[in-house]
Amino acid sequence: MTANTEGTKKLYIKSYGCQMNVYDAERMSDVLKPLGYEMSEMPDDADLVILNTCHIREKAAEKVYSELGRLKFKKSDRKAAGKQMILAVGGCVAQAEGEEIIRRAPYVDMVFGPQTYHKLPEMVAQAHRKTGSVLDTDFPTDSKFDHLPAPSAKGGYSAFLTVQEGCDKFCTFCVVPYTRGSEYSRPVEDVLSEARCLVSTGARELTLLGQNVNNYHGLVKDGGEWGLGRLIKEVAEIEGLDRIRYTTSYPAEVDDALISAHRDIEALMPFLHLPVQSGSDRILQAMNRRHGAYEYRILVNKLRKARPDIALSSDFIVGFPGESDRDFQDTMDLVSEIEFVQAYSFKYSPRPGTPAAAHELQVPEDVKSSRLAALQDLLNSQQRAFNESCVGRHLKVLLDRPGRKTGQLIGRSPYMQAVHVDLAPDNLGRIVELEIVSAHGNSLGGRLLAVEDAAKYRQSNTTNTKVTG
Ligand code: SAM
Repeated sequence: MTANTEGTKKLYIKSYGCQMNVYDAERMSDVLKPLGYEMSEMPDDADLVILNTCHIREKAAEKVYSELGRLKFKKSDRKAAGKQMILAVGGCVAQAEGEEIIRRAPYVDMVFGPQTYHKLPEMVAQAHRKTGSVLDTDFPTDSKFDHLPAPSAKGGYSAFLTVQEGCDKFCTFCVVPYTRGSEYSRPVEDVLSEARCLVSTGARELTLLGQNVNNYHGLVKDGGEWGLGRLIKEVAEIEGLDRIRYTTSYPAEVDDALISAHRDIEALMPFLHLPVQSGSDRILQAMNRRHGAYEYRILVNKLRKARPDIALSSDFIVGFPGESDRDFQDTMDLVSEIEFVQAYSFKYSPRPGTPAAAHELQVPEDVKSSRLAALQDLLNSQQRAFNESCVGRHLKVLLDRPGRKTGQLIGRSPYMQAVHVDLAPDNLGRIVELEIVSAHGNSLGGRLLAVEDAAKYRQSNTTNTKVTG
């Protein structure tokens, strides 16, 4: 069996689920680069295919098995042509289902959990030796981050940076504590040096990632710990970095330092994803959330006081076991009151091994569907209204990718809206000031007013109240 060409090999990674998987995929590619692997856009010509999976809901997990079914044929086509394809399943489905994957899909060569991808070179060598499928779903005592190379330039103008991983909250619906392990914060110095590295390779915006990112408590070299607010303050000092975001936050862990960061740090964008899950105290308690609807409302008020234009997004689960019409109405009331600019909403999906899955009062599927439709109607109307309110405003947009149409670029507003504008490709990576001329369900259209350099951008941000971001 041969690889693509002597020395170079092709790697295809398909990521499912959250932004952390996108970050993980980039780091896997960095780990495999010294072995001669280069990224490929297609699985067909790949020597190594990794499905980087998500286990959060049943649908996400099942997609992996359908994809494996398709890849099985590609693998045998390559074998018939005298070429190899190592097929690997990584991420949270691999962690949760381990041997079950090898039983259902014995042609899979490697199965590895999210805490082991620094060991990919060894696993690939083992797969080459063909001594059966390689399975590694350990939670090693030393952090994978200690074994990873510096990130390559692939993060782009807007890059992800994992600062915290794992979860100790044990919400009764959620698999994360079982698949990602317990909470771990990377030391401050590691985060800062990776942030500097990403900025030096072109990133102008960093999104700090964690399953409970706002429970970050990173060790500082000379002793002590920093929370997320303090970390953001330091990251904001990096020359050349214009924008900072963070996700995903746990409401009960938002502290005063983080709220003040939203008031004081201009590079911290006025957008926050703050999952509430439900507006009913009874359901929040059954979910083992450590906040009620009242505490969430108070928190939103504090954030809005600190940063009046902050735009909020959230996650919702409908049809959690035992959810009554009254409970659901409480969710609708909370949404009506707070007004979210975007949100993710899901039907409750029982996950094996989580307490809620064994609950006897499961909500019928048709009830879940009609509640989800009603909630999504309300959320969509709020998103549309917010987008429409932006027409005529001047917003700063970091152009980070080409649009679908030729001559079009896309970027993000300070409030996370996708904004498209007709502009030449050499404007990619620039922060431009746009007049918003159209609003759609999920995006905005803009007209160029000015291209600004970073210094000017910061200055105008502090002096101009109409132009935000
Ligand atoms: N830190 C976040 C929080 O505060 O809960 C957790 C983010 S979680 C990885 C992403 C979202 O998936 C959750 O906020 C929740 O809405 C949804 N989710 C998780 N488990 C689910 C389940 N079993 N069924 C449906 N949705 C689920």
